[in-house]
Amino acid sequence: MAVAYNKRTHSCGELRTSEIDKTVTLAGWVNTSRDHGGMTFVDLRDHEGLTQLRFNPQLGSAHGVARTLHNEDVIAVTGRVVSRGEFVNAKLATGEIEVEVNDIEVLSRCDALPFQVHDKIDTSEELLLRYRYLHLRRPEVQKVFRMRHTIARAIREYFHDNRFIEIETPFLTKSTPEGARDYLVPSRVQPGSFFALPQSPQLFKQLFMIAGFDRYAQIVRCFRDEDLRADRQPEFTQLDMEMAFVERDDVMTMVEGCVQRIFKDALNIDVPVPFARMTEQESMDRFGIDRPDTRYGMELQDVSALMKDVDFRVFRNALDGGGVVKCLVAPGGAALTRKVTDGLTEEIKGIGGTGLPIVKVIEGEKGIELSTGVAKFLQPIAVKLCEQVGASVGDAIFFMPGTFADVSKYLHYTRTRLATILDVIPKNRWDLLWVVDFPLVVWDEDAKRWCSTHHPFTAPIDEDVAMLDTDPGKVRDKAYDLVLNGTEMAGGSIRIHQREVQSKIFRLLGISDEEAKEKFEFLLDALRFGAPPHGGIAFGLDRWVMLLSGSQSLRDVIAFPKTQRAICPLTNAPGTVSDAQLDELFLTVKPLPKK
Ligand code: ASP
Repeated sequence: MAVAYNKRTHSCGELRTSEIDKTVTLAGWVNTSRDHGGMTFVDLRDHEGLTQLRFNPQLGSAHGVARTLHNEDVIAVTGRVVSRGEFVNAKLATGEIEVEVNDIEVLSRCDALPFQVHDKIDTSEELLLRYRYLHLRRPEVQKVFRMRHTIARAIREYFHDNRFIEIETPFLTKSTPEGARDYLVPSRVQPGSFFALPQSPQLFKQLFMIAGFDRYAQIVRCFRDEDLRADRQPEFTQLDMEMAFVERDDVMTMVEGCVQRIFKDALNIDVPVPFARMTEQESMDRFGIDRPDTRYGMELQDVSALMKDVDFRVFRNALDGGGVVKCLVAPGGAALTRKVTDGLTEEIKGIGGTGLPIVKVIEGEKGIELSTGVAKFLQPIAVKLCEQVGASVGDAIFFMPGTFADVSKYLHYTRTRLATILDVIPKNRWDLLWVVDFPLVVWDEDAKRWCSTHHPFTAPIDEDVAMLDTDPGKVRDKAYDLVLNGTEMAGGSIRIHQREVQSKIFRLLGISDEEAKEKFEFLLDALRFGAPPHGGIAFGLDRWVMLLSGSQSLRDVIAFPKTQRAICPLTNAPGTVSDAQLDELFLTVKPLPKK
């Protein structure tokens, strides 16, 4: 029986008792079906929800059709809304009613499913991604994408309200260095030449400022060929923005307003502004990382001075070598079992460390005492140590000797792991923090050259410019990173708008004048023709959606993501191409190394 599926009267999430006795037309997927006391019941699902359909054998042929239904068949029905009486399902928005079906049309049948849509049982990720359109049917997955839309809309509206305009930038372009490998696209028309897919629209947005657009914001895809981790995808989306005639505070204030709007629209939460600020140095000192999770304590503390008098070779060696000894206090950590602390030590070794000295603070016969681990070395300074680091009976103290960089890395790791183990991270808390005053460049010992902390277009702080020639490592930059609960959510800077400074920075980074000309001539040219001071920022949109929707991975918030091996199980991309295609491009593929 034909049902006018193009004239649905309601969605499957809409009907309430107020519609009782009305005749309605619904369409959607069979979520589940069951026979019960001669009746057949079907839960019909669409993007809005579920409605229970009742097929009564007494009411014509629809019941016979209903009995042939399988999960995920697509049907349209017409029927009367009736009360469920005492069988109300309080868990469903439509749970007080059901539709007694008169007519049904099966619009499309569903084959045997690789996994059920209606339950949450996860099979392998490969399978979920291969049949991603089925996975996307799940209401909890759909919810994430609806939140993604809400966030994107909030961003667009906010920037529109603030007189930004959205302009697209090219995908087939030249390399824009953001610290990753480029994805390359061979040119057929210019054989032997390659486009690079943009790692970001950085240079184009700067050109927009030079072009006089004043305020630009774009939601844009970026491409970075990196080794994939849980929080990386080869293509990802940024909210990219730039403003002319601004200083750092102007950009940061604009961003704070946008973040407020995102939280309001997505979660109905009011976040206070301005956000806290911290210099990179303070962040490294207190947390060992430049994107600290400030929701909980256990901060890193420098005990180098105290350890000078301690007769413990491991600490002594670190100090004699110009390093530091730092520690963190784990409240209640004395209760941690040997298994847990040994496990942590192994993890530290796994990421390159040599160990994780620990002591527990206990109540001894004569007051505070240290036990286990390196206690015997530190007992002489037990009271002083506990006083200085604020440790009490029942706590544990974890130490790390070594270079500042190593100590930071391993104690940051320890702090993060302990936060989970000791369950100290407050729920429903959103700590937004700006980290500022990064070093402009850091020395890369492997490459034996200076590298930008952000990218080569970041401006140095005015009063530090003089040190570019004498002590580049001390020069701070005009960058700002926005951190949310320990995750970097956005990063940007005031840019260099003077050609000479830009050339100087290229030289400092070991980019020769010829190379700079070859790669960035267009930028250096543009800087000759009246460039306003400008600055901007980019947010990783996927990461915002991931955090705000409580998702575990970026793959959960991208409709058709790549796996950790950078492949798409749905389309089987990347794939080989025909010899004819390669010929056209003047390319040959080298024999692959044997595995
Ligand atoms: N282009 C930078 C990035 O992608 C952001 C910025 O500096 O605006 O991280």
